[in-house]
Amino acid sequence: MSLRLYNTLTRQKELFQPIDPRNVRMYVCGPTVYDFAHIGNARPVIVFDVLFRLLREIYGAEHVTYVRNITDVDDKINARAAERYPELAPEVGIRKLTEETAAQFHADIAALGVLPPTVEPRATEHIVEMVVLCNQLVANGHAYVAADHVLFDVSSMADYGRLSNRSLEEMEAGARVEVAPYKKGPMDFVLWKPSKPGEPAWPSPAGIAAPGRPGWHIECSAMAGKHLGDVFDIHGGGIDLAFPHHENEIAQSRCAHGTDVMARVWMHNGFLQVEGEKMSKSLGNFITINELLGTGTFGASQWHGRVVRFAMLGTHYRQPIDWTVDRLVQARATLFDFSFLHGSPVADAPHPDVIAALSDDLNTPSAISIIHGLAKSAHRNTETAAVLKATLQFMGLYKNETQDELNPGHEARTVDGSKVEPLIVARLAARKAKDFKESDRIRDELAAMGVTLKDTKNKDTGEIETTWEIAR
Ligand code: AMP
Ligand code: ZN
Repeated sequence: MSLRLYNTLTRQKELFQPIDPRNVRMYVCGPTVYDFAHIGNARPVIVFDVLFRLLREIYGAEHVTYVRNITDVDDKINARAAERYPELAPEVGIRKLTEETAAQFHADIAALGVLPPTVEPRATEHIVEMVVLCNQLVANGHAYVAADHVLFDVSSMADYGRLSNRSLEEMEAGARVEVAPYKKGPMDFVLWKPSKPGEPAWPSPAGIAAPGRPGWHIECSAMAGKHLGDVFDIHGGGIDLAFPHHENEIAQSRCAHGTDVMARVWMHNGFLQVEGEKMSKSLGNFITINELLGTGTFGASQWHGRVVRFAMLGTHYRQPIDWTVDRLVQARATLFDFSFLHGSPVADAPHPDVIAALSDDLNTPSAISIIHGLAKSAHRNTETAAVLKATLQFMGLYKNETQDELNPGHEARTVDGSKVEPLIVARLAARKAKDFKESDRIRDELAAMGVTLKDTKNKDTGEIETTWEIAR
């Protein structure tokens, strides 16, 4: 099976050839744990979970190492901990906040059918590795110390900007932010900085006496290096991370280790927007995973995690995605259709056509249309049903849920049939009299009661006959 992946570094789809097929290694930037993860954050988690599953299928589950970190040292974390736990010592409050948020994140994404990664390192448990990287970079002339900071000297790296395809001159020309006076060049970035009172602090590298804390980019270089080595196969994250975060990870890791690349393949998911707009708190369209699954009111409803996952995978990962209620409604309807598989047996392996579609740069829309095709014959063929079930399980889209389970928060509706029948009769009479305004009004009245109508023409009599069912 040949796997092809789009590589941001080379801007083309390439045949994927692991450095060591017995240990295929992938790193994906994980969350900064200070608040509920939103539905945009769920996108890389779901997308790279699909890739993880595919790699396990191709190379064997024990031959894939997937590292997704937790960033638990950050300005936003410090600020939120001080706000939420003013009575606690800063380090205690930070610990409490990051642990609670990480636990919430785990619960949220487990509901989305996401497998745990092989390793989930925390930044604060890798400070020593970060200090070592800083020291290496200072020693080999790629970083310098100024005002108790360690800064990366971007002019020391000939091809800085390769990932985001920008030259240093362009970037410097575009650097509008005020440049700190201690920086040699405007694009030089922080590897280590001094801690203010009350902030988490560790002994600093490079002979700096004042205690300090790491910059964001160095965290990922340290965790990836420790768990995956100097050069590994795949590095992923959202497209917003390509610059500066990934560019700077590359600069640090390559210059510290003297390698041509940090990861061979760089993959980026497109951005998610909500109902056509950028998600933001001020627009009031900011949706957390938790709200969607739990007690939130988005679309006046709650959604099963598999419905959310299905809705997410309907768009190719590199395309932008517009998150709408309609998308969720459609995903739920499809999963309802699959619930006839409840209780049916499962085949050993997913359908090869689905593996082939995913092997073409994770073409999930194509995989889903193949699944629709399978579903058509699965109603009549138990073997196909078993393969369909195995395929859905492989993609994390269906386990064995019933329709009720797939429809949380929706009480099973009951409708009083004795009220429905007379209305149907009245509607048919109105139609016959060509009073369509009245017949539509009655249809709406029934819809409000949760009743949907289906009109069919009786072949023998030519009369319209109406059946009804309870809408979901
Ligand atoms: P952050 O916590 O902001 O560092 O983001 C964690 C992950 O979520 C990163 O891989 C981001 O690229 C990704 N991400 C954040 N917002 C969105 C969004 N609106 N659409 C898609 N991915 C996003
Ligand atoms: Zn990262």
